[in-house]
Amino acid sequence: MKQSDKIIGIDLGTTNSVLAVIRDGTPVLLPVQGDRLLPSVVGIAPDGEVLVGMSARNQWVVAPDRTIRSIKRKMGKAETVSMAGKVYTPQEISAFILRTIREAAQAALGEEVRRAVITVPAYFNETQRQATLEAGEIAGLVVERIINEPTASALAYGYGLSNDQHLKVLVYDLGGGTFDVSIIELHSGVVDVLATAGDNYLGGDDFDERLAGMIADEFYEEHKVNLREHHQAWARLLRAAEEAKIELSSAPYAEVKLEYIAQDRKGQPLHITREVTRHEFEELIADLLGRTMELVRKALMDAGLSPNQIDRVLLVGGSTRIPAVWDLITAQMGQEPHIEIDPDAAVALGAAVQAGIIAGEEVDAILVDVTPYSLGIETAQIGYGGRIHTDLFTPLVRRNTTVPVQKSQVFTTLFPGQEQIHIKVYQGENPVASQNVLLGDFMVEGLKPNRPDGLSDVTVNFQLDVNGILDVTVVDRKTGKRTSERLKASRQRLSPEDIARSQAKLAEAYTEMEATAAERIMDPGVAALLERAQRALDRADLDAGLADDIAGTVADIRHAVAVGDDAQVEEFCDRLIDLLLEVKE
Ligand code: AMP
Repeated sequence: MKQSDKIIGIDLGTTNSVLAVIRDGTPVLLPVQGDRLLPSVVGIAPDGEVLVGMSARNQWVVAPDRTIRSIKRKMGKAETVSMAGKVYTPQEISAFILRTIREAAQAALGEEVRRAVITVPAYFNETQRQATLEAGEIAGLVVERIINEPTASALAYGYGLSNDQHLKVLVYDLGGGTFDVSIIELHSGVVDVLATAGDNYLGGDDFDERLAGMIADEFYEEHKVNLREHHQAWARLLRAAEEAKIELSSAPYAEVKLEYIAQDRKGQPLHITREVTRHEFEELIADLLGRTMELVRKALMDAGLSPNQIDRVLLVGGSTRIPAVWDLITAQMGQEPHIEIDPDAAVALGAAVQAGIIAGEEVDAILVDVTPYSLGIETAQIGYGGRIHTDLFTPLVRRNTTVPVQKSQVFTTLFPGQEQIHIKVYQGENPVASQNVLLGDFMVEGLKPNRPDGLSDVTVNFQLDVNGILDVTVVDRKTGKRTSERLKASRQRLSPEDIARSQAKLAEAYTEMEATAAERIMDPGVAALLERAQRALDRADLDAGLADDIAGTVADIRHAVAVGDDAQVEEFCDRLIDLLLEVKE
């Protein structure tokens, strides 16, 4: 095979690893085993086959003693791990993953790949970085550079690519097994890490465990069977919990459904069907998300910076797709984080950017399609003392979200027995709904209450495609009846032709207004009166006080004519007639 001078970018993650390269000047992901994310799991099958990725992850459920997960946490330690009875160093386990990635790159590029840039957490010490380098070497790679993950994310966003930028960036990285927050400063091609904080044992896996734990507790209450003690059942429950968690990032409800999860004492099969709401899930993980916010504050304090001194906030890692993360970080930092680049891909794409720079390639910024405005609906709330607050804007799709995107949220009617709701869809950022751009509205009728208090829940679903077509669907929870409407999210920008047309319209309106004003002045009675007044004012013997009054009233008449206020014209004319009577002939 021909040897390539291409340098590949690798995000060697705790949960997943990702491969990216520069193609036609732009960083792109290359699939590994047909997927964008390669689970960072290694195993040995009973027949001795080496398993890496999804197959190893599947094996972990049935044979944890032959399978290794989260080896990144052990990098740089003297510890070894045992897999199918053999002992391996953390470097060796990581090398299995890197080898798989290298092979995928070679298959995709059709050339032998030897050079790579690999990312590590900013807090990794020299020993941990050295271990990562060695893992690369074992996999047959020349590691051209080890770069920090937050730096890679910033590079993916194009920060630090031009020399004149001077930016302080906070990177909030919540993955499957770890949480890191880093504050970096980029200037003249140099990157300084100002502070890092994090928790090596906090991430999406913990959220899965919380959800699975809640369901296992309920199951124990009902059946007196502890699913935690049944390895396979627990592994299946964890999987289902993860799926539900992911669904809850875009939907208000998700169902955990597992058939034949266990048996009762009589050997009868037991199943699980449990609906989980987003709210319920958010409560389950609230303290864990709270801890990430504490660490954000700690990093800021260590860097000696206040939130408003941070120029950009980036969200990285699959778990930042949880809507509550966005809400919390926005409140904490007083600014909206950047989420334009896929949070799973940002680090690898940045590694590819760095690889491209080393290889001397031209690297352009990543182009992503995002919605430039938030999209949502008008809602009302009952406040203290039963007062109803209306005209509130509740966004479903936030500004800067990558499209296509699908989001749902549940809303409840205000009054018992309320059978219809008026859905008004707006685009904009103003918390007052009517201050935004109304994209369309429609009625949802025939609602049936699903709650004991007579109120009805409806799920509102927004589906936005790359062309700005917004499909809004409202589903009645009780009856499942759907009402849909297709709307077009407007770019809200006027074309130069539109602007020219509007300018012409305005000019026309002014001309008309002047013509009307002129016509009014030409009203013979008023015109004659004003002429009489002018003649009086021209007289040298006119009393100064009277002259003042006449001149003032003339001005009042002219103004009233200009604005078209006939009543005032009449009133001022009467006053002028009285004044003119005082002028001696
Ligand atoms: P990473 O290590 O960055 O690849 O992140 C992996 C973690 O992100 C896993 O725990 C996933 O379950 C989690 N994850 C991926 N997509 C979502 C999503 N849409 N909502 C919530 N968590 C997600």
